[in-house]
Amino acid sequence: MKYIDEFRDGDSARHIADKIAAEVKPDLAYNFMEFCGGHTHAISRYGIADMLPPNVRMIHGPGCPVCVLPIGRVDLAIRLALERGVILCTYGDTMRVPASNGLSLIKAKARGADIRMVYSAHDALKLAEQHPDREVVFFAIGFETTTPPTALVLRDAKARGLRNFSVLCCHVLTPAAITHILASAEAREIGTVPLDGFIGPAHVSIVIGSQPYVPFAQTFHKPVVITGFEPMDVMQGILMLVRQVNSSRAEVENEFSRVVTPTGNLAAQQIMAEVFELRESFEWRGLGEVPTSALKIRPEFATWDAERKFELVYASVPDHKQCECGAILRGVKRPQDCKLFGTVCTPESPMGSCMVSNEGACAAHYSYGRFRDLALVNKGPTASNSIAT
Ligand code: SF4
Repeated sequence: MKYIDEFRDGDSARHIADKIAAEVKPDLAYNFMEFCGGHTHAISRYGIADMLPPNVRMIHGPGCPVCVLPIGRVDLAIRLALERGVILCTYGDTMRVPASNGLSLIKAKARGADIRMVYSAHDALKLAEQHPDREVVFFAIGFETTTPPTALVLRDAKARGLRNFSVLCCHVLTPAAITHILASAEAREIGTVPLDGFIGPAHVSIVIGSQPYVPFAQTFHKPVVITGFEPMDVMQGILMLVRQVNSSRAEVENEFSRVVTPTGNLAAQQIMAEVFELRESFEWRGLGEVPTSALKIRPEFATWDAERKFELVYASVPDHKQCECGAILRGVKRPQDCKLFGTVCTPESPMGSCMVSNEGACAAHYSYGRFRDLALVNKGPTASNSIAT
């Protein structure tokens, strides 16, 4: 397939759906987690879940970067902007993540904080150049995909001696989080679902390659299929997982081989290693403290590390009592299980992080699936309202 239409072709998708239906064993349950928010979005947008047999269930994982950002980290950024007078820059979705005291970055901006949405880490660096009299902080979030550009601007700022620029680093790592979901006593205690395999991230795997998942697949005997974001990719990935489960295999397979290689992007990995080192532990929304699951800035770049520069002290803050984001991020609940879904909590007015980005499970279900929850829609046409043919 060469063109985008071919990756969205309905007949081909139905053909793969037929294969999945023919190959699943009726006495088995297939619970697959799509770790990445991009896959969650694709599954909701293209109605993929509706094309699967009832015993194949897709479970949304914690792979949306703004969904897993804990309140305490957003609070740090807000305090920097409101109390320390910095120009705080961040990506668009981060602006709306709920924080403490009913605040978010966008609400703090309405209160007078100088908070700016940027499209890249480089935009934040440019602002620091343009405002040498102000401190500019880049609130850096995301997985291995957004980490190399942050590393590049840190190296650039150091090389140029740009001392009014720093980074509040909240970059997190994918393999550690997947391992935590299956391995940790804490995760088991707060509740997780049984999982039979994973749709591996697409963009993240472009950077890190397919090899980092191998120890995970072997240790936990869980298949991983790295899959692209188009509907045909996802359907094919699910078929590959079904086949692995049926033959009791637990291997790393690469459906997205047009982009992902075994070793990934070595130049990106090198710049990440030059600028960042592992944090001992990092709090994830929904998963709690996850060991070695995030990055911090190396001491050689301390001048450009906002946590050191402003002597920030992290404090954990619990989510809104009725928000089920934590359970959704662990796959234990679905968006429609939350009492606030679609009423108090909507994409225009999110109460929890899963409703913020269109990669979040709640926002994806709100945009593409919520009407299926209504009994009237589920019943389909009746004798009295069906269209005459
Ligand atoms: S509907 Fe809103 S409050 Fe409920 S789990 Fe989703 S994001 Fe959280």
